[in-house]
Formats: sequence, C-alpha cells, structure tokens
Amino acid sequence: MIRHGVHDWKAAARAALRDGLCVAVFGAFALTCAPRALATIRYEVSLGRPDQHLFHVQMYISRVKRGETIAMPAWNALYQIRDFAYHVRDVEISAAGGGEASPHFGLAQELDKQDWSLSGGPQGPETAALDEIVKYSVLWNDPGPFSTQLDEHHAFINLAEVLMYVPDRRGESAEVDFVDVPSGWRVIAELPRGTAPDSFIAAAGYDALVDAPVEAGNFDEFDFDNAGAHFRVAVEARDWDRQVLSEALRRITSYEVKLMRGAPFSEYTFIFHIGPYADVGGGGMEHMNSTAIAASSTSSAAAIAAHEFFHAWNVKRIRPQALQPVDYSKEQYTRALWFAEGVTNTYASFTLERTGLWTRNQFYSDLASQIADLESRPARKWQSAEESSLDAWFEKYDGYNRPSRSISYYDKGQILGVMLDLAIRDATDDRKSLDDVMRRMNEEYAERGRYYDDRNGVLRVVNEVVGKDFSGFFRHYVSGTDEIPYDKFLSIAGLQLTMDVTQPSDPTATIEEIPHPSARQLRIREGMLRGTTE
Ligand SMILES: [Zn+2]
Repeated sequence: MIRHGVHDWKAAARAALRDGLCVAVFGAFALTCAPRALATIRYEVSLGRPDQHLFHVQMYISRVKRGETIAMPAWNALYQIRDFAYHVRDVEISAAGGGEASPHFGLAQELDKQDWSLSGGPQGPETAALDEIVKYSVLWNDPGPFSTQLDEHHAFINLAEVLMYVPDRRGESAEVDFVDVPSGWRVIAELPRGTAPDSFIAAAGYDALVDAPVEAGNFDEFDFDNAGAHFRVAVEARDWDRQVLSEALRRITSYEVKLMRGAPFSEYTFIFHIGPYADVGGGGMEHMNSTAIAASSTSSAAAIAAHEFFHAWNVKRIRPQALQPVDYSKEQYTRALWFAEGVTNTYASFTLERTGLWTRNQFYSDLASQIADLESRPARKWQSAEESSLDAWFEKYDGYNRPSRSISYYDKGQILGVMLDLAIRDATDDRKSLDDVMRRMNEEYAERGRYYDDRNGVLRVVNEVVGKDFSGFFRHYVSGTDEIPYDKFLSIAGLQLTMDVTQPSDPTATIEEIPHPSARQLRIREGMLRGTTE
C-alpha cells in the first residue's frame, strides 16, 4: 500500500520551498528548516470502504470556543446550490486526546440543513479552548469533475463535498491525510505536503484546500516542463492516446502562458477521466493550480483543457469582486460570467486555432455554431448576457434551459469576445486587441491581488487599452439585449455570416472569408487568427 502520493523528490522540494518550508533532498544537500506550527484544523479521510462509496472523516479542531459551529458547503465552484450536507451521516463530536467530558459530546446537534453545533450552541456549556474531534461519514458515487466518487476502481474528490469547515476559521491552516488507501492506489493533488509526517496535503486555509481536487487510484501519469513551469498529468482512462494528449497540452500551456506573459504558478496538475463510457461524466472544472476534466475522447479532453487552463488566469486570478470572498452557505451572484466563462471560451477557440490544433475553418464553424445556438433562443430578446450570469443558479432546472427561457453566457460570451476583439482591432487600426485587454486585466487585478467590478471592470480596462469609449458596446450587447450586428463586426476581418433560418428553432450558420478582402480586412483577419497586432 502506498499511502502518499506521486510527488517525485523534485516536485516535493518545489512544493515545500513554495510553501516556505524545506525538505532534505538526498544526502549532500540537507537544507535546514524552521518547523512550522501544526495546522489548527486537521482532517483524516479514510478511503477504506470503496465498496460502500463511503468516506469516513475525522476532523480535529483545536481550541473550540463557545457558540462555534461546523458546516458543509451548499455549493462550491459550480454555480449551483447542491446541498452537499445531504451526503453526510452520523456526525459525532468528542474530545481530542481523551480530554474532559462535556454534555454536548456524542451525536452532534444539527442547527439547520448544513450547520451543526460544536459546543452546544451560544447557551451551551463553556468549552473554551477545548480541542475536539468531529467524526462523520459521507457517501459519494457520482462521476465527473463536479462531483465526488469512491468506488473499487478509483476515488475522485472535490474536497468541499467531503470536508466540513468552521465558518469563522476558514483562514486557519488546514492539513489532510488519506488513510486506508486501497493497495496499489496512488494519490495526487496540487497542494504542498504538510509538515507533519501524516499530512499528505496542506493549505493556508480552507478555501485553498478545497480548490485542489484529489485523484486516487491506479492512474497513468506523465509530466513535463514548459514555459517556465512544471506540469503533472494524471489520466484515469481505459482508452486514451498519450501522444495526442501530451502534444496538445504542450501546445496549449505554451501558448496561453506566452499570451499572458508568464505562468502565475510554479506547478500545475491536470486530472483527466477519459473514455466513451457513461460513467466517465463530462466537462471540466477549473481550480487555482489544477483542473479536473472528463471527456469521451482524448481530442475532446484536450479541447476542454484549452478552456480550463485559461481559467488559471480568467476567473481564478482575474476574478470578479462579487465572487470574493466565497460564501459557501448560499448563492453568490455575479454579472460577469459572460466574461469569466464566455470569454474563456473565446480564448479556448483562439488557442486551439492559433496553435494549429484546429484549422481556421474549425474556428469559423465553431463560432458559427455558437451564433446559431444564440439565434435559436427567443430568450435572447429579453435576457442579457449579464442577466444570464445572475441566473446561472437556475441551470440545474431543465425548464430554465429551454430556448424560450434562457440564453447561455458561454455562447453569447464567446461571441462577444470575438466581436470585441474585432471592434478593438478596428478602433485601433489593428494596433490593439482583446489580448491586450486580458493582459491589462491580469496586471491591474490578478498581479495586484485585486478583483474587478462586475459591472464596469472590463469596460474600464477596454477603454484604457483602446483609448476610446466602448460603453456603447457594453450597453447594447452585454447589459442590453440588442441584436448583435454580426455582419458589421465580421466584415472588419473580411468575414461573412450566412444564416439558414428555414427552421427558426434549429437555424444553421456558416462563416466564410469574403472573396476579395481589402488589405486592411486581411491584416485584421490574420491578426486575429495568429494573435498578433501591428
Ligand atoms: Zn469554464
């Protein structure tokens, strides 16, 4: 049995140094290190019952105060209230280290669907500074990057779906150890090790801890260095093409890091579940320094990676203020998902085309299909891109996703990203582009640890980059519901759209290059397709 993960000594050293710690690496170089205090919140997660899909969790909490509570998040990362607490059972509280008995030890007192009392409530007995252990079980057997699964084959864990938190103490250091790991399994997660020998991963706080998904099992793996960073890839699949995936990831990471002028991390981990099987699930979920992706084929996994990896900047670091700090207990509204998700789609399509993973015709036909989808939705006439961002929380209801009820901020945001790029190139005679906007957002917000205003942050930076007022574009197409004049924008690059609306509920669209473009149209088209400016 291997209890600890797949870090090689180089990765372990990098991770430890990043965390301000140190490790002794082989005999010749024993670095000296200052011991760090043990985390105040420690978890032990047992993977010993894969047959029952049950995680057994022990949570050690130091110095519990009167009135303190513990909670399960109602949501995380995916903008949906999913009430993770309904997976939890038999919550018990006891004193750590055989401390003194207290009347509230035993079964925990539930306060509402996702909160429990740690200390008998505000009127409860004084238990100041008592160290406590909370034990509970969590049942999860759902595939895909948004859920958690423990079965005899593997475990994939979104830690916010398994680990409780102390609401007032999310900023305290936390460590996790995995125990009873089935024989032959390895464990991987993009977090540094803790200082304690039984700490597999450690984080400065709960938020960072749950922003790193965990894969455990007998997965394939490879790693590579690129663009100044180290990349680890774990693949859980019955059928995949290592050469295709490896080449695509090298191109994607290399291009997006170059586009953004450097990697904001020293190490990044891709976790893939690939296979044409129903139990693979589908989609991708971004995290600070990693992503989890499920897809039916290697090539679609790579295409999703172009989107998820760009989130390492857009949304994880270039982040709307409304999403900070995270409130795990209820909905958190932002108007900016058209930018955080939709423009990330724009950059996935730019990246795939600019790296040669797609032909330019694939780029055109992908954009045309997003336009066809938006045009098939009567709701585009009254729901704006901003409003569809606010309503993301309804997406779990089938009725909401009907064309008469909603548009997609992915589609419309992707389209707006391309149109904005063309409008910026037009306004600056191809001297600036949306790439400059992304880089400026990165400098002004991400690199300075600031968040952008959901309503005006993007517009402000566009105006700054272009030196002209773009408020009309945002008023008409982002907060407003004016029909997008596709031909006006596409003609800037000598492109034209043909829509077939014979069946209004299922229109088709094609985008083609016009036969005799002007020199300017050609220059702008090539600039967009190559990611260059004059
Ligand atoms: Zn996304």
